[in-house]
Amino acid sequence: MPRPHYNRILLKLSGEALMGDGQFGIDPQTTARLAREVAAAKEAGHELCLVVGGGNIFRGLAAAAKGFDRTSADYMGMLATVMNALAVQNALEQIGQDTRVLSAIPMDTVCEPYIRRRAVRHMERGRIVIFAAGTGNPYFTTDTAAALRAAEMGCDALFKGTSVDGVYDADPNKVAGATRYETLSYNRVLSDNLKVMDASAVALCRDNAIPIIVFNIREQGNLATVLAGSGTATTVKQ
Ligand code: UDP
Repeated sequence: MPRPHYNRILLKLSGEALMGDGQFGIDPQTTARLAREVAAAKEAGHELCLVVGGGNIFRGLAAAAKGFDRTSADYMGMLATVMNALAVQNALEQIGQDTRVLSAIPMDTVCEPYIRRRAVRHMERGRIVIFAAGTGNPYFTTDTAAALRAAEMGCDALFKGTSVDGVYDADPNKVAGATRYETLSYNRVLSDNLKVMDASAVALCRDNAIPIIVFNIREQGNLATVLAGSGTATTVKQ
């Protein structure tokens, strides 16, 4: 069954989506390709906002495991998401898209602070809004930030771009014959501890009835296909 058309969407891009084939950092070609896909989605009539992760640069939990103070490490992770947001904004501007970066940690000389009404206004004016610095709080992830902003912005769906084409009953890279789910309930994701997004993000989407569409963002052109309701993905819903 084709998936429904969603008008206003939040696209969650993990930091790794910007790495390309590299192991770290931002690959300009990959970022430009993502920007073209985001612009195409906007031209196809979708209202878009983005949350960008930071895992290609810094992850708080991993750093804490090596001895960093967790809170400081999380702030460093949030700052990494700001760098990624600026890279995506730059790539979008280079192809003529009007964008704004709004940061949950105010840094006035770099970008706008996150103010919900301002973000809504930007979207109403047809701008692509990029949310940076996660939730602004340590001990959270950008997945939770994505769910939070999707709820605040009244998004019809949260599209999570990953390196796999959906949610499987086992790791498809490790288990031969792992099966992909076409749809899943929020509660099943939580009870089976399936690796879709972290539990707080899934619960937030459940409580606000925001479907989560997990799809492969590494495949060129896939964002348009999945937004059009076809292609391979897993939908998490009620
Ligand atoms: N982070 C945080 N609070 C937030 C969002 C992110 O502390 O609300 C930190 C956390 O340390 C995390 C890092 O920022 O590891 C990068 O975000 P994330 O791991 O979610 O990025 P992704 O995996 O999507 O690239």
